[in-house]
Amino acid sequence: MKILLATEKPFAKKAVDGIREIVENAGYELKLLEKYTEKSELREALADVDAVIIRSDKIKAEEVEAAKNLKIVVRAGAGYDNVDLEACSARGIVVMNTPGQNSNAVAELAIGMMIFMARNQYTPGTGSEINGKKLGIHAYGNVGRLVGKYGKAMGMDVYAYDPFITDAAYFEADGVKKVDSVEELYATSDYVSIHIPATEQTKNSINYALLNRMPKGATIVNTARKEVVNEAELAQLLAEREDMKYATDIAPAILDELKEKFGKRVFSTPKKMGAETMEANINAALAAARQIVDYFVNGNTRFQVNK
Ligand code: NAD
Repeated sequence: MKILLATEKPFAKKAVDGIREIVENAGYELKLLEKYTEKSELREALADVDAVIIRSDKIKAEEVEAAKNLKIVVRAGAGYDNVDLEACSARGIVVMNTPGQNSNAVAELAIGMMIFMARNQYTPGTGSEINGKKLGIHAYGNVGRLVGKYGKAMGMDVYAYDPFITDAAYFEADGVKKVDSVEELYATSDYVSIHIPATEQTKNSINYALLNRMPKGATIVNTARKEVVNEAELAQLLAEREDMKYATDIAPAILDELKEKFGKRVFSTPKKMGAETMEANINAALAAARQIVDYFVNGNTRFQVNK
């Protein structure tokens, strides 16, 4: 079996060494493609492999077409909107993610961004504190739950909205208040931390009407995906609501415009870095390699996302 590790943005060396060890101990061969600049390089590398581990690398119909022996794609991370599930399913290729493995890194960044914005991006002047403020968690999955936990530790009053978790006791056990509509979540929260996946349903769903429900002085923190926020309507909102701020880990397409118009009220990390910690690299990388071996040896499809 040949396993390709294809990372345009490479893993830390320790994570690559860990993958190699798992793959070779299983008697398989590891093929490495890092820092590639052309899509054609990825397609060529895919031509003779049985499995591929990716990060934000795109596996679309053309890549599937080029990968004649491919049986499994594992996205080392949570979001898998970079993989064409339909094209994979049509060829019987299993697609998995590695849920939960980078959540802590993302949650720490989200909390860090709240403090960063509360303190005017660490520039002199009077800022504010997050202690005592209301924090709304938009989607209570692996990352959202940890943001809630750390928010509580900072003295925040935590609310969460996730229509796919109907059991209120699940939230109550964490000391978090379950909110029944997304409108109520935004109307309640001084800080909203966004953790919804990018899907056909969620894209552009965070719009002017929703954001405008937020109380005076509110801050939105997005460590999920840029596509879930309607950027034109965000710009309109920030123009009308001088009290509001937006911080994101995924640069908006209109970042230059936002920065020029709204200065320190807008912040974006230069490159998505939520999962960019040594710990998250290693957790996600090793999980991906183990899931591939477990699939080939035992047929385990627990983390398959295209069932
Ligand atoms: P997860 O799958 O554990 O949780 C996602 C949650 O979203 C689930 O609880 C689900 O019920 C909920 N959900 C789905 N649709 C919803 C909707 N319309 N409204 C409200 N809730 C909804 O994923 P996660 O690990 O918590 O990650 C969340 C997202 O963060 C990922 O999809 C990914 O896009 C993004 N992410 C970003 C980085 C980064 O580097 N910035 C790293 C990891 C994940």
